[in-house]
Amino acid sequence: MDRLLDLDVTNLTATFEAGVRGSELERVLATRGFTSGHEPDSMEISTLGGWIATNASGMKKNRYGNIEDIVENVTMVTPAGPIRCARGFARTSMGIQPMGIVLGSEGNLGIVTRATLRIHPLPEKQVFESYLFHTSRDGLDFVYRIAHCGSVPASVRLMDNLQFRFGQALRGRHLGLKRIVSRLQRYLVTRVLAFDPSRMVVATVVLEGTAAEISHQQRLLKAAARATGGFGAGASNGRQGYMLTYAIAYIRDFLATLHILGETFETTAPWDRVEAVTGAVSARLVELCQAHRVPGKPFLSWRITQLYHTGVCIYFTLGLYLKGVDNPARVLAAIERGLRVAILEAGGSISHHHGVGKIRREFISTQMSPAAARAIRALKSACDPTNVFGIGNNLFGAGETDAPHDP
Ligand SMILES: Cc1cc2nc3c(=O)[nH]c(=O)nc-3n(C[C@H](O)[C@H](O)[C@H](O)COP(=O)(O)OP(=O)(O)OC[C@H]3O[C@@H](n4cnc5c(N)ncnc54)[C@H](O)[C@@H]3O)c2cc1C
Repeated sequence: MDRLLDLDVTNLTATFEAGVRGSELERVLATRGFTSGHEPDSMEISTLGGWIATNASGMKKNRYGNIEDIVENVTMVTPAGPIRCARGFARTSMGIQPMGIVLGSEGNLGIVTRATLRIHPLPEKQVFESYLFHTSRDGLDFVYRIAHCGSVPASVRLMDNLQFRFGQALRGRHLGLKRIVSRLQRYLVTRVLAFDPSRMVVATVVLEGTAAEISHQQRLLKAAARATGGFGAGASNGRQGYMLTYAIAYIRDFLATLHILGETFETTAPWDRVEAVTGAVSARLVELCQAHRVPGKPFLSWRITQLYHTGVCIYFTLGLYLKGVDNPARVLAAIERGLRVAILEAGGSISHHHGVGKIRREFISTQMSPAAARAIRALKSACDPTNVFGIGNNLFGAGETDAPHDP
């Protein structure tokens, strides 16, 4: 279930079986000079079918799109028969489209077995950049400008101060000349340019494309940084910051051995609600930790991972020291739930790319009208009338009523 079935180098599509893992899919395409451009942090462990079932989002979506932009045709096998289009097209106007049923189906309706993706020649160049900002407000102004500049680099991410400092702490020690350069850089940033280490934030950028495209985007980045008090912090910080998010994903298991339980959660917020959402989550965490008698100081940091015309994805990383706390996994789950409530109250979405599954399904009925929920449930009866795929995710969870709010 992980084979490349077809590669069309003229129309730039590739058809794969859906069990292929991300890293393998990219390896196979790269040997032929292509990429799908879809690069989630879970690249090494997640599959094409999983991406489609969860509405995944890759880090370089500004250039290549999210999974819904990348997939041109898909086959999902259901008890009622396969759901697919006769063939994929760049775009069609054919009424309600079968692919819409499959994307985000979260395993409730059937098994995604194959998909046709848009592909691109491997980029001529890849360049990393980073910019420091005095405050998160300045950093947000920078990413707002970049989101609307007309030529957004493949990946632009903004890390809050705590995540920036965490990244610095994880850096290996420099030796010799590198050590001297690093000390000089620190002196320049903190003493000469007066960046406050306890407030500054960093944006990391990945640029891909032709040399001309990249230099155009570099000019736009520099102009936006100048207008927002940013300071160019170089390629190696950009690369390291981009890779840090992979490291954070893997460090979780190690921290669990030290009684630190961690979780990540994300949301989409309109531009004017970003600070309300991050502020609400920080404030609610303090209350929740007191209520659950969590010892020590919780770790909570955020980064903006995806930019859109109307808003952003905010990705939170949470770490709690739970030594001596009864049933730590339940406490972590209760706190995460409380933080999701805070996000929704502050104007964030139920999820940006992790999906709903079981953990967030209690909130799904608040996100759509009753008629929308009924229409989606009717799909289940049509595709899987005897509930063979009784996974119970999202609206199909056991005990869900058909009485959602009318937002
Ligand atoms: C360390 C880490 C980093 C992550 N980073 C990202 C990221 O950057 N971007 C992002 O979007 N997500 C990310 N995720 C979340 C996750 O990897 C994605 O949602 C991914 O798309 C899930 O794919 P999977 O193959 O792992 O599916 P699974 O986790 O195995 O399954 C997820 C859901 O999809 C259903 N499903 C899986 N395969 C199929 C299929 N063939 N047919 C029908 N239903 C199916 C399952 O039933 C389940 O409900 C991350 C997760 C981890 C652990």
